[in-house]
Amino acid sequence: MHSLKNVLPNGTPDSPAIDWSFMKHYKIAILPGDGIGSEIMAEALKVLDVVERRNPVTFDRMPGRFGASAWFETGNSFPDDTIALCDKAHAILKGPIGLGHEESKVIPIEEQPERGALLPMRRRYDTFANFRPVYLPASLSHFSPLKPEIIGNGVDIMIVRELVGGIYFGKKETGVNDRGLRYAHEVLEYDESLIKRTVDIAFDTAMKRRRLLHNIHKSNVLKSSILWTEIIDETAKEFPDVEVRHMLVDAAATHLCLDPCQFDVMVMENMFGDILSDQAGGILGSLGLMPSACVGPQKAYYEPSHGSAPDIADKNIANPYSMIGSVAMMLDMSFGMTEEAANIWQALQSVFASGYSTSDLSKPGTDCTIVSTGEFGDRVVAAL
Ligand code: NAD
Repeated sequence: MHSLKNVLPNGTPDSPAIDWSFMKHYKIAILPGDGIGSEIMAEALKVLDVVERRNPVTFDRMPGRFGASAWFETGNSFPDDTIALCDKAHAILKGPIGLGHEESKVIPIEEQPERGALLPMRRRYDTFANFRPVYLPASLSHFSPLKPEIIGNGVDIMIVRELVGGIYFGKKETGVNDRGLRYAHEVLEYDESLIKRTVDIAFDTAMKRRRLLHNIHKSNVLKSSILWTEIIDETAKEFPDVEVRHMLVDAAATHLCLDPCQFDVMVMENMFGDILSDQAGGILGSLGLMPSACVGPQKAYYEPSHGSAPDIADKNIANPYSMIGSVAMMLDMSFGMTEEAANIWQALQSVFASGYSTSDLSKPGTDCTIVSTGEFGDRVVAAL
């Protein structure tokens, strides 16, 4: 796993500088979010409690409102008090946000959770590098909808997604054109510095893994992908030990289903990464297995890759793996607690290995005891 302290400079005057050797007191903004957010966050905090109890460290948990729930309470999806505590925090632990399709219409378009909270958070902290591990050991291949012969020795991919550029952040305009037709105009823009910093991190990550990097692009259509690929080729000269393979994004979608084991590190622009990482969750068997880290020059936030799953909210059945895995990534990348992070990954896997899972992973014919969100968290704690 990539370590934040190795990639990024220490804090700026606006954010607390971290003394990596002595600092044992961390402020964490806790933003449960919407839907299943509070249920899976509760399990993540149980795990954080264990880590705190057995290490010379304190975690100052600073709860904040974020997303649709914040909008209903304050009229703002990313309220000022939440901004203030995120500014103060050494790291941010964030649950998923968002509402179902119909409910979302109650909130004005600009305040809807992604536009009103998530993108502003990414912009504020310039969290440009999004790490999305896609991991399923062979022993758990029965969770995947893919055949065992395709899963082989298991899936272990790191998707590195650019997170603050491209069409999600470009200029947007809607209106009625001179032919009286409604139109929408959105700009996909990257400059070379935005691409280069993500590409550097992807190569660096590849060096720490199998030294294989897939550049996912759409150079046959998009000029931005041509620039992206040029920068990949230039950077490859600085990393002669990394083998680079270029793959069109549409082909990559197919290859992820037909032969996911060929991939190790995949790097791509913002929207491609959004879509392909959800597909990657699909090949694991559930989006509930997808944690992530969103890393910027001064701050990082950690969140499940998935949304707020309104279809299963308040039922105590959501899979907390993604949220607990996000804690592991935070401990490793923001606080340098690599060993505890490894312990958490191992504890998560051991719960599955003992024959327990949440209902999202249950399949007809699999011999698995289904447990609730809370019971899954308790078993992780017991394993720790
Ligand atoms: P979703 O990711 O919430 O759910 C897709 C499917 O995966 C659903 O069937 C859901 O039940 C399942 N699922 C997701 N997480 C799970 C978990 N931990 N355990 C078990 N099952 C899980 O996608 P959606 O339904 O399209 O979106 C719901 C809302 O989430 C929307 O408002 C969307 O905009 C928002 N969203 C937010 C984020 C974020 O906060 N970063 C990311 C994606 C979507």
